[in-house]
Amino acid sequence: MKAVRMVEAGKPLELQEVPIPSISETDILVRVRAAGICHSDAHYRAGKSAMGKLPITLGHEIAGEVEWTGSQVRALNVGDRVALHYNISCGDCYYCSTGNEQFCTTVKMLGHHLDGGYAEYVAVPAQNAIPLPEEISFEAGATLMCASATALHALRKGRVKAGETVAIFGVGGLGLSAIQLAKAIGAVEVYAVDIKQDKLELASEYDAIPIDAGRCDVVEEIRRLTKGKGVDVAVEMIGLQQTMKQTVESLGVLGRAVIVGISRIPLEVNPYATLIGYEVEIIGSNDHLLQELPLLVDMARRKILDTSHVVSQVVALDADKINQRLDDLEHFTSDVRMVIVP
Ligand SMILES: [Zn+2]
Ligand SMILES: [Zn+2]
Repeated sequence: MKAVRMVEAGKPLELQEVPIPSISETDILVRVRAAGICHSDAHYRAGKSAMGKLPITLGHEIAGEVEWTGSQVRALNVGDRVALHYNISCGDCYYCSTGNEQFCTTVKMLGHHLDGGYAEYVAVPAQNAIPLPEEISFEAGATLMCASATALHALRKGRVKAGETVAIFGVGGLGLSAIQLAKAIGAVEVYAVDIKQDKLELASEYDAIPIDAGRCDVVEEIRRLTKGKGVDVAVEMIGLQQTMKQTVESLGVLGRAVIVGISRIPLEVNPYATLIGYEVEIIGSNDHLLQELPLLVDMARRKILDTSHVVSQVVALDADKINQRLDDLEHFTSDVRMVIVP
């Protein structure tokens, strides 16, 4: 089969001819119908993250059709449409057995530690496959497995309840999903903070109240719009020191700040004025859980989560085009969401 693979860190990916993966009795073989090209893939190609053994096939946002099932697989049949959870966990370490499998001591990620979806076929444990209804395209199904899933997990970590107010910092793929999911969970007002006009306009189309951080003091503006109270939940999806601080400072009494954006720079807050005075919580949110994915797929099927805007370009399994897209992602020169259709 054909696969577009990382051969060496910092070098362009290469199209290779490799054997179709073999499967164990509890695995399935999936014919890949869509594989999302994610910002993380640009990091992986650049060698910024420890990878599995090279060469490795990238691609962790995958949807396709079951091509073959292992002898022990009961819940899936050949021809079923599926989307794949990218974290493969052991199932019996302390974290797996307490329902927090994203911390599995031996967790391996498709397209990062194991061969992923930039290929014609991929092999995964059957438990990693989420049935994908006909109403959701393979392209949309693939992208649900990364940004949207992480957005849902963040809102669950923030314990958003009906009637609350939410601020989302950063209106990218994560932020747009978070806006819609927060509304679906029952948030009465969702504020969308960004500096780009087109993103703020898109956020407004999904009923969020846009806040242009380039034109106002975000914290003051949120206080003004909430009549001095601040928001109940604020989610940071950018990874900047300044926006993390704003996320915490825009909270009201008993507010929860959820940090999703990645940074290694310390987050400084005033413990008395900001934390103790309001009894706020700062919560880290890491990836998502397998158990959250069926709910997410169902929300997409019911159009509570609109996936029609997500994918804007489709490309074949072509190494040059994929490398070009990863270059763009590396240099932030394009907001186009591209999906490979092998
Ligand atoms: Zn991704
Ligand atoms: Zn485990």
